Formats: sequence, C-alpha cells, structure tokens
Amino acid sequence: MNENQMRTVLLIEDDPGDALLIAEMLELQQCRASLVRVERLSEGISYLQQNCCDVVLLDMNLPDSSGLPTMTRLMDAAPTTPIIVLTGLSDESFGVEAVKSGAQDYLVKGDIDGRVLKRAMFYAVERKKLEISLKQTRDLFERQSRIDYLTGIYNRLMFNELLEAELQRARRYGTSLSLIMFDLDHFKQINDNYSHIMGDHVLKELAQLISDNIRAHDIFSRWGGEEFMVLVPKCDQAGTSMLAEKLRSLCEIHDFGNGLQVTASFGIAHFCAEDSAESFTARADEAMYLSKKNGRNRIESL
Ligand SMILES: [Mg+2]
Repeated sequence: MNENQMRTVLLIEDDPGDALLIAEMLELQQCRASLVRVERLSEGISYLQQNCCDVVLLDMNLPDSSGLPTMTRLMDAAPTTPIIVLTGLSDESFGVEAVKSGAQDYLVKGDIDGRVLKRAMFYAVERKKLEISLKQTRDLFERQSRIDYLTGIYNRLMFNELLEAELQRARRYGTSLSLIMFDLDHFKQINDNYSHIMGDHVLKELAQLISDNIRAHDIFSRWGGEEFMVLVPKCDQAGTSMLAEKLRSLCEIHDFGNGLQVTASFGIAHFCAEDSAESFTARADEAMYLSKKNGRNRIESL
C-alpha cells in the first residue's frame, strides 16, 4: 500500500481542537483517505465492528476510557487494525507503554506535523501487515510441529509430551492409564498392489475412523509409518479392552474405498507405578507384536 491507497482513517478523539488539527494536517498532506471521527472508545469499537478502516488514531484519554486500557481494549476488539496512539506532552510515557502493548506507534499531540503523521500512518499499516503474516507463519510452524502432516492427528513428538503429562497425573492421583498401540496388517502390500496414494488414503481414512470413535480426552497419534497409539486415561482394563475391540472391528468392517478391506493388530499396556514412558510404550509394542505373531487382526494385552 502506498499512502494514497489508504481509504479510511478512524480518529477517536474527544477534543474538538485536536481533532480539527489532525483533519487539517491530513488535508494539507493531500491525504485522500476519508477521516471518520468519533469521540468515545465505545463508538470507535462499534465502528470497527461494522466497517473497515486502514488505521486508527487513538487519543488515550476519552470520556469512557483513559490510559493504557483504552489501547488494549481497542486492540482486543480489532486485533488486525493498526493503531497509532496520540498522547499529550505530559503523558508521553503512556505512548511508550502503548507501543509495548501492541500499538504500532505513538505521536505526541502538539508535536506532530502533517508529514510525520502521514508517514507514521503508512508505516503503521505496513508494520501491522508484517506482524500479521509473521503470526500466521508462526502459528503454522507451531501446528506443523505437533500435527502429523498426512493424517492431521498428533505426531509422535506431541504424543510423547502428552504421554509424560498423563503419566505424571496417573502417578500422582493413582488413576488408571492404558495405551493401545496398533499397526495395520500387510500394509506394504497395499502400497505395492495399489499405490502409495492408496496407502496414504488408507492411513487418512483410518485416522478419521478412529478419531470419530474414541472419547474426546483420549489421545490419538501416529507413532510411525502405519503404527498408531491411543492413550486412554481414566478407563479401567475392561473398558480399554472393549475400546480396542470396538476399534479393531470397526477397522475390519470398514470399506477403505472400492471394497478394500484392511485389518490391524492391537497391543494394550496398562500403566503400573514403576513405568516410565519408555517401558510403557515398549510393553504396548511387545503386545502388538504378540498379536502379529498370533495371527494378526487381534488384540493382546501385557
Ligand atoms: Mg482526550
């Protein structure tokens, strides 16, 4: 955006003299944006809820709000709109605080000239855009670090973190905790006989099927290639076995596309006080391999 593409500037200012001064400065700078002025913070917030605005010029001391909360309340209401705070000569320190809390800039009334104002507005818009795109990138990275790219469920890294937290809870409160590990049977043949695309489809479909059939607080993750884990807190051994049996049979009867049938082998480990994350997962793994050894498409517990 260049300065001339700015369409609307919202001025929240209760002092008519200060408001006039700002309007004149912008006019002198041939700023084409239309200046909308309101006198109260509440009016500014409702304006922003209904209208688009490129930048807000905000007096910190208004009839219905004063000091830093004026800025933070406005920012909460319109988090993507850049804000430039206007302070008096005697309260410049508020301006610094406002910038630390998320305002793009502050200008001291009585010490502004039109060019400075115009440039501050332009920079505020550009900086806010950058800030938003950085936040989006950061959110995306954060999500990618926790989520398995293919299935959209937790990845192993995130699972390990959540497992530690659940282990601590189980140790402290003596609550039950079980781990269901399962691995698709003959998955390599799906990739070989059909395609890797079909293989990926099966994994995604399976992840969805399981997600839809566990409790909200069960923790489901992709452990590796075609291996998955369901961590089951606060559920006794019989309940966990029933859940595993439900998942096993759902998988067995599910049509994965064009009549493709897939089964999985399950292993269950029940937490005991001496368990570490490693010993707990190793036991589930061992139980799962026992299922494979004993004929697949079945459940073993250790
Ligand atoms: Mg005022």
